[in-house]
Amino acid sequence: MQRQTVSFTRNAANVFFHILTRCNLRCRHCYINPAQHGSNTLNIHTICKWLDTFTKRHPSANLILLGGEPTLHPDLAEAVHHARALGYASITIDTNGYLFHDILNKVTPDMVDVFSFSLDGYCPAVNDPLRGPGSFDVCTAGIVAAKKRGFSVSLICTVSTANIAHLQEMPALLEKLNVDRFFIQVIGIRGQWTDDADRCQTLAQVDRDTWMTVVPRVAEDAARRGIPTIFPKVFLNVEETFECAGKVTNNYFIFPNGRVYRCPLCEDYPLHSLMMEGDALVPAPRINEADLFSIDIAEGCVMNRIIQPRNLPADTHCPSFKIACCMLKEMVMPSAFNDNDNRLI
Ligand code: SF4
Ligand code: SF4
Repeated sequence: MQRQTVSFTRNAANVFFHILTRCNLRCRHCYINPAQHGSNTLNIHTICKWLDTFTKRHPSANLILLGGEPTLHPDLAEAVHHARALGYASITIDTNGYLFHDILNKVTPDMVDVFSFSLDGYCPAVNDPLRGPGSFDVCTAGIVAAKKRGFSVSLICTVSTANIAHLQEMPALLEKLNVDRFFIQVIGIRGQWTDDADRCQTLAQVDRDTWMTVVPRVAEDAARRGIPTIFPKVFLNVEETFECAGKVTNNYFIFPNGRVYRCPLCEDYPLHSLMMEGDALVPAPRINEADLFSIDIAEGCVMNRIIQPRNLPADTHCPSFKIACCMLKEMVMPSAFNDNDNRLI
């Protein structure tokens, strides 16, 4: 088994395309913020034009189609066809598992590299209070159906104080479902959860000691079962190098209202550094997120310092650790894994 921090790849590009923000679920930690991201559904003509725009800028970008729930879009399959024809290096569909519009029968494993399912617990009793009644059964049935049709499947589990006590049960479920890759995500103080963060103490970020104790161990268990596992590094020792992905990578988070962010933590604010004007990607007026990326502070990520300082060390003059960029990942690979695929999304 190999565990490594995966450095940012300077030449790769990742296009996270929210084609709509509508969703059938109401997850307690939903990061979508319609006031900032829009509540419109992009029509297929606009989706294709915007895909063209990004592929001209980055000819072999990785594309992640997401929402809201992207399978609610009746033309998702057409968007996939178009992106494949444009030459996107990989295409991932992020889904809550409801797989609307018969999407599994409208695309093929040649067209979609990965279906990425979101599930926050190993059983309904853990998952459903977070993601909605019945969502565990629907999502796991969706995984089974996708595997049956030959798709590669990954699973994202968003970890908070509400479910970390049960995270250790996830690897056995992943193995049973034959999931190909496991992503552990840290809950962010964002979107529709932001307003009641103080009142919902059961749904908070886990403290550093708990994260460092539990998450790597669960990742190693999943890897021992043959499942490559990726999780955010979150905490850096003081001697470790801090880097801001906004400065050194090409990540684009596109929303249906035309805002384009480089940093996921900025998405709750009108801080986008780019925007779509018609079919053109243009700079957004300053001050924007790009002005923050160059600010060096002892605590690491400046946006974390601004919006979720509760995870910082008590002594901010001489901090005992730093907060890593939210895009910095640790990867635990099974020892027999003979594959160069360092996919982090
Ligand atoms: S987190 Fe995803 S699945 Fe859950 S409500 Fe938000 S968009 Fe829907
Ligand atoms: S999370 Fe922090 S370090 Fe990462 S891109 Fe955003 S501002 Fe930069």
